[in-house]
Amino acid sequence: MSSSTRAPLHCLTFDVEEHFQVNAFESPERRSRWLDDESRVERNTEKILELLERHRYRATFFVLGWVAERHARLVERIAAAGHEVASHGYGHELISRLTPDAFREDVRKAKKILEDVIGAPVTGYRAPSFTIMPGTSWALEVLVQEGYAWDSSVVPVLHDVYGWPGAEPYLHRIETPSGPLWELPPSTAGLLGARVAVGGGGHFRLYPYPVIRTLLRRIEAKGKTIVFYLHPWELDPGQPRMEGSPLSRFRHYFHLAQVEGRLERLFDDFRFASVREVLPSLTRAFERRQATAAAGTEALARIHAR
Ligand SMILES: [Zn+2]
Repeated sequence: MSSSTRAPLHCLTFDVEEHFQVNAFESPERRSRWLDDESRVERNTEKILELLERHRYRATFFVLGWVAERHARLVERIAAAGHEVASHGYGHELISRLTPDAFREDVRKAKKILEDVIGAPVTGYRAPSFTIMPGTSWALEVLVQEGYAWDSSVVPVLHDVYGWPGAEPYLHRIETPSGPLWELPPSTAGLLGARVAVGGGGHFRLYPYPVIRTLLRRIEAKGKTIVFYLHPWELDPGQPRMEGSPLSRFRHYFHLAQVEGRLERLFDDFRFASVREVLPSLTRAFERRQATAAAGTEALARIHAR
């Protein structure tokens, strides 16, 4: 770790799923083969764990319930290494295709499986393909009711699968009828007049690394926290190729061989930790800002009332 220990701390996250579970290649036929396909998630996640150990970083792993059921030892190793285990749901279905009841069942099942494996509460959630959007905003209250305290699924961009254009791009508190939920959106940045995702995944592979670094530095310069994400399959250039549309194949396979090297550079250029380590100071700062704003409004009201 070459960065100064006084450099700001950002959130490092991984969505732990098999390469064949991504929504871009999703079909009932493909889903029916999940049990027959070669599992690569364990080996790929181990690669990440080794990389993190070398850099002495801890991260948050959103593990799919389906994966935890079959690879409990992997989840135990993640937790034992000091990383945070959070939930990626159970069956990796887009929320936009689920009823509220089916969603509730999915996030409840995943939470139970993960908590049974690690013997500790699981309080964070990330939706498959970030599909908490205006049409699925009901999911936020379901998460509160199911015992989740924070979510990292709302991406304030325009995209063909996910996105909530105009949503707040940094940590904020969402008030639902059942209570509050902290929302920690994956990082986005303004680029050529549009807001684009820069916090990881395909975007991390698509743009030249110096562009990514510049955009992330801008977030840091604003005093905001970067929320970076990646999938274990993105460090696996040798994975078997799947059938799909040219766009899906491009998004999934582009520059896989460069990811490990880019991660090393990213880890040198910025300082990272798990959400669990970063969130308390972020929520305190948010509450301080809210209190200051409320006091300002009150003072203004008093002046006007005179
Ligand atoms: Zn996923």
